[in-house]
Amino acid sequence: LLLSCTPYSTNLSSCCSSSNILLSPSVSAAFSLRTLTLDGYLEFEDLGNAAKDFGGRYHFLPSAVLHPESVADVSAMIKHVFELGTFSELTVAARGHGHSLQGQAQAHKGVVIQMESMKSHEMRVHMGKDPSVDVSGGELWINILHETLKHGLAPKSWTDYLHLTVGGTLSNAGISGQAFLHGPQIDNVQELEVVTGRKGDIITCSEKQNSDLFYGVLGGLGQYGIITRARISLVPSAERVKWIRMLYHEFSTFSMDQEHLMSSKETFDYMEGFVVINRTGLLNNWRSSFSPKDPVRASQFNSDGKILYCLEVAKYFDRNEYHVAEQSIEKSLSELNFIPSTLFQTEVSLVEFLDRVHTSETKLKEKGLWDVPHPWLNLLVPKSLISHFAEQVFGNIIGDNNGPILIYPVNQSKWNNKTSLVTPEEDVFYLVAFLSSAVPSASGNERLEHILAQNQRVIDFCSRTTTGCKQYLPRYSAREEWQSHFGPKWEVVTRRKLEYDPLAILAPGQRIFQKSS
Ligand code: FAD
Repeated sequence: LLLSCTPYSTNLSSCCSSSNILLSPSVSAAFSLRTLTLDGYLEFEDLGNAAKDFGGRYHFLPSAVLHPESVADVSAMIKHVFELGTFSELTVAARGHGHSLQGQAQAHKGVVIQMESMKSHEMRVHMGKDPSVDVSGGELWINILHETLKHGLAPKSWTDYLHLTVGGTLSNAGISGQAFLHGPQIDNVQELEVVTGRKGDIITCSEKQNSDLFYGVLGGLGQYGIITRARISLVPSAERVKWIRMLYHEFSTFSMDQEHLMSSKETFDYMEGFVVINRTGLLNNWRSSFSPKDPVRASQFNSDGKILYCLEVAKYFDRNEYHVAEQSIEKSLSELNFIPSTLFQTEVSLVEFLDRVHTSETKLKEKGLWDVPHPWLNLLVPKSLISHFAEQVFGNIIGDNNGPILIYPVNQSKWNNKTSLVTPEEDVFYLVAFLSSAVPSASGNERLEHILAQNQRVIDFCSRTTTGCKQYLPRYSAREEWQSHFGPKWEVVTRRKLEYDPLAILAPGQRIFQKSS
């Protein structure tokens, strides 16, 4: 039946009605994909992987998966779906490394473009006064690190985990312990090549050229186009890293020290922090990778299961600058008010430091604890609210650690406010990340339900207390919630959507706009 309808014309309704064949629009539109001439290839079977992500809770099967070899493939696919018009339900989702949390890179009955297929394209490093590297949108940050280090260079701003793609993190922000100094990853991009949702147009954009698209795509949740190439800013790389941790009893002292480091002229290259709830033997665990500055007093330290706050900092240096780095570290530490017996440090290579979460990944995989549901909640909390938030949430709404709880401030006067990222209105705000794992246990799914309920209580607390908190890596289902999330930016979001993806073909998994059919 289907074959009798070939060659497929873009006018599907006339094709099917003239032969009196009744095909559902989604089946016939998906079938039309087979007519595309591509450098790469399309898959129509065994598509389960494209319906999975790190969150592990949403599974939407696509109709096809495209493994593109070239930007022309990405463009041809979008153009084709665009030309099918609203007759078809087909949508298109770029999939990076699939490390979204709630189906954001999935496309129910649509086409998933597996961007990593393009990563084999050569990375090109540009030396000179303002060095940069050209990479594919499907490239993993870990590969960029290895490649740029060959030239004595490296990107400035990272995520905690490097096995994520350029397109995936640039669609969100890419926030980590360097963001207080350099802004998130989206602020360290010189140029993009984007395939828009309007006819699959291939557009090069930057601060100076097609800047509306450039800033729209950065932090734009994949709504306006697919990033096929990015030019990332680089700086001379360091060889080694001093990696230091210390504990605090009081949140106020901890956050004061974090904010002090953020505004100091001479400071660390990386700063984060995390909350420790109800954990005994923490310092003993650290000993496998860190050494205590004062081993005797460290072994006498007893947390009594109280809530503790850990400040984590790192200083980069070259071997020939070891003493200068040591002096700078000593000076910075002397200005802080941590519990003296809890100062732990280690020295590692830059790659070991930046790729640190991969080490945990390997261990968790061995124990079967990596591919479990991850009901993560990431919030951006304004400074004026953070003490009240800490008091009400840590040890109260959140009674135990189901995974790390990160907390650190950034100053957005150093961030570019032209990107699509939505942040609180105050200059200083905190990233608070509840990185929970729903570990299969006796209580099974209840555990997941329990974490989800806790997350909801934190969200409710934020909405009751202030409208100033924003979700990072957000997901909402109702249009009004998105509108409230974007606030004054909503108007520009809808205007750009109409301009660059008028049929709402792209990134359906974000659930902001819906393709009408
Ligand atoms: P995917 O999940 O595949 O895609 C994410 C979204 O981007 C989807 O909507 C997708 O359609 C879209 N997209 C993908 N590729 C493109 C493209 N080329 N062009 C346009 N749109 C595209 N985030 C931080 O900011 N800081 C962190 O420190 C951090 N640490 C993390 C640690 C772990 C272990 C994990 C799992 C995630 C972490 N994240 C962090 C979140 C991460 O940045 C996002 O989940 C990101 O989207 C994952 O990238 P990905 O390549 O897997 O993208």
